[in-house]
Amino acid sequence: MEEIKIELTKNPKEKPQDESKLGFGRIFTDHMFLMNYDEGQGWHDPRIVPYGPIALDPSAMVFHYGQEVFEGMKAYRNVNGGINLFRPDKNMARLNVSNERLCIPQIDEKFAVEAVKKLVEVEKDWVPHSEGTSLYIRPFIFSTDAQLGVHPAKHLLFVIICCPVGAYYPEGLNPVKIYVEENYVRAVKGGMGFTKTGGNYAASLKAQDEAEKQKYTQVLWLDGVERKYIEEVGTMNVFFVIDDEVITPALQGSILGGITRMSTIELLKSWGYKVSERRLSIQEVEKAADEGRLKESFGTGTAAVISPIGELKCGDKVMTINNGEIGEISQKLYDNLTGIQWGKVEDKLGWVVPVC
Ligand SMILES: *Cc1c(COP(=O)(O)O)cnc(C)c1O
Repeated sequence: MEEIKIELTKNPKEKPQDESKLGFGRIFTDHMFLMNYDEGQGWHDPRIVPYGPIALDPSAMVFHYGQEVFEGMKAYRNVNGGINLFRPDKNMARLNVSNERLCIPQIDEKFAVEAVKKLVEVEKDWVPHSEGTSLYIRPFIFSTDAQLGVHPAKHLLFVIICCPVGAYYPEGLNPVKIYVEENYVRAVKGGMGFTKTGGNYAASLKAQDEAEKQKYTQVLWLDGVERKYIEEVGTMNVFFVIDDEVITPALQGSILGGITRMSTIELLKSWGYKVSERRLSIQEVEKAADEGRLKESFGTGTAAVISPIGELKCGDKVMTINNGEIGEISQKLYDNLTGIQWGKVEDKLGWVVPVC
């Protein structure tokens, strides 16, 4: 593996003083990781350099055809003062799944994890200290070929940037309101729904905008063919507890396989819950709600970890779930997942990777 060259900044930025005002994705650290791909040469020149703008030709293919993939992960300051990553190998494996679908050359997953570790180590003073905060890490790859013909790129750039982010729930777990999207679809089987690529988000903006105007946090997507089966929520996978069964839609090509989803399933199974990955229609959820058998619902994702759903609107029907309060399973999952990430709960499943 090639050595990662490091060029440190001569003008370090002031670190944010008030960690309660960090928000999400607005402040970036002093450095970034870069690595180029050129046909014939493969991936080369891994380096950490001062954070700053990237110059691209206006004809760079990514601007026109969106050949781009990304990941989202976090580094956490643990209770002993060290810094942890959470299952970073899973992020890099998923990046390669996205790469494959978008005709982007495979990366060396182990090397990419090492690159993240190196960058986080360089930026260790940027990992915030307050309860609930973390350093968000955004690896991404895009095509840079300066030409307008449509074909897979021969030149690409792999970049990793980091930003300190605030506590997602400064006032404790807060149930969100979601509505079932009936007009737009996010992805269909055969498309790119199972990948993390900008195009999926471009397709979702309109629905998200309309949801926000109606004071809903995000939309729940249904399958694009029958408009019947539940897929996922905006930036999260989704779970429903009906009777004593915890159900999440099976990954069948149009849904993103979340690492929080995977970890949630593994934890619930280790605790003896009945977990099903299967097709779940919105009608089944409505019927369960009518009969008082819908106990809980929650979203899972790196940003929020667990996001309880307190209200679900489908057409004219409004379902209040668990009186709009946090359910027992949601709370237990949140406490354990964040506990493992922050080093407060024993990491029995070996998910935590120390950086320093
Ligand atoms: C990233 C993402 C998720 C959540 O995945 P995690 O690995 O748990 O963060 C869910 N859905 C979509 C569409 C996503 O982009």
